[in-house]
Amino acid sequence: MTQTKLILTTALFFTLFSNYSFFSNVAEIYPFKGMNIIYILSLTTLLFTFMVFLFSLLSSRYTIKPILIILLIISSLTSYFMNSYHVVIDSDMIRNSMQTNLTESLDLFNINMVLYLLFLGILPSFLIYKVELKSSSFKVEFFRKIKTLFLTLLLMVVILFSFSKFYTSFFREHKPLRYYTNPTYWIYSIGDYIAKTLNSGEVIIKPIGVDAKITNSNNEPKLVIMVVGEATRADHFSLNGYKRDTNPLLKKENIINLPYVSSCGTSTAHSVPCMFSIFDRDDYSYKKGISTENVLDVLHHTNQIEILWRDNNSNSKGVALRVPFEDYKTDQSNTICDIECRDEGMLVGLDEYIKKQKSKDILIVLHQMGNHGPAYNKRYTKEFKRFTPVCQTNQLEECSQESINNAYDNALLYTDYFLSKVIHLLKKYNPTHKTTMIYMSDHGESLGEHGLYLHGLPYFMAPEAQTHVGAVVWFGENNQKSIDPSKEYSHDNLFHTLLGLFNVETKVYKKELDMFK
Ligand SMILES: [Zn+2]
Repeated sequence: MTQTKLILTTALFFTLFSNYSFFSNVAEIYPFKGMNIIYILSLTTLLFTFMVFLFSLLSSRYTIKPILIILLIISSLTSYFMNSYHVVIDSDMIRNSMQTNLTESLDLFNINMVLYLLFLGILPSFLIYKVELKSSSFKVEFFRKIKTLFLTLLLMVVILFSFSKFYTSFFREHKPLRYYTNPTYWIYSIGDYIAKTLNSGEVIIKPIGVDAKITNSNNEPKLVIMVVGEATRADHFSLNGYKRDTNPLLKKENIINLPYVSSCGTSTAHSVPCMFSIFDRDDYSYKKGISTENVLDVLHHTNQIEILWRDNNSNSKGVALRVPFEDYKTDQSNTICDIECRDEGMLVGLDEYIKKQKSKDILIVLHQMGNHGPAYNKRYTKEFKRFTPVCQTNQLEECSQESINNAYDNALLYTDYFLSKVIHLLKKYNPTHKTTMIYMSDHGESLGEHGLYLHGLPYFMAPEAQTHVGAVVWFGENNQKSIDPSKEYSHDNLFHTLLGLFNVETKVYKKELDMFK
């Protein structure tokens, strides 16, 4: 085979077998009839031609095989995730997968994934490996490449101009469609991720709120526990009117439920640093977040607040880099572990910690495993298996909607139990401290509505299930604050609310964003 022929064959393979998700989304907007048939055929040709152009540009005689093999292997997995969960592989998704750990990845592993890897990845890769490439002189090869690049470019221009009206609507009004092209979009996303993350050189962290101080500290010390939840959607809380009792213990406590809270992003890696940052949803970016101090740093600047971050999720996503951090994901630190370490374990030893701080103000952040998917059935112990039958596999597409909801809701029951334990712990300190618990989830979760699963869709195309999150606050008896639960709040409020809770005076505090003012 010549190099060109190998590229043509591989591009055809990608177009036909790795773009199911793309074409099914296209067909939803442009049903396969009438003129649409011509449009879809032209779109198919355009995608194919673009891939030929891209592969020709990227490869030379010695690099072509490894490049195509890497593309095939990765694309077989992206195909699996896009087809099964309807996710898109954008730069945020790349960031999530870079920050994930082995147990989280094993949670996703299943037989369907292996079949995708085998048939769309390994098998074609093996054929590419075996193929013998015709060798020709550098000059011949060079001109052949120029010819391919020129012809494909010409063909793309002709296609775009012949159906200019269709392509204007395709690119402008249906922007999300191209997010499903495989492997082109994930290649772009990796570039985007690198541009956003790596080329920044050494991160210089801009201090903020260095003027922070607490003036009226003659009161009782404050004890605040901030629980960062995982993937709980508001409409599955019975506190918000969900048909099932998913908050049986919380409803017995004197809590204030916040029914209208929206998240900053749709993934942990985006939302967690955003909610602790000074930036609002529109303004936040990964780069700004990582290079600017967050609310924990501002609280720390007062020199009067002890801060502790305990994590049973993955890590603090860069939020707790400059304050004490404890990992609770292993049984070395977490004393409550069975098939995995439980959120409840983060509460063990907190009494000793609180006593040690004597009369200082304390902020404890607990980052939960919560409702981390897709293996919801692993997120709770057997006492919480109340809604049955439950989806026992991480292959959500093979489970009934009902059994997915059951597993998800059982995991919510565990969070309900966990939060009530946090409240019971705080109650013990009512005589000596002003106590508060704030609970907010990082993002929501899709549970199969319109074929969508998990989370992480770009914000503008994400359904409410992924952005409307569970949130609850609780105040100790001698620490009642005013808050209007009928108002809409968001992650933007957390920065200022935490500062307000500790009576911190600083130029960066905005009273109008403080939920309790
Ligand atoms: Zn999350």
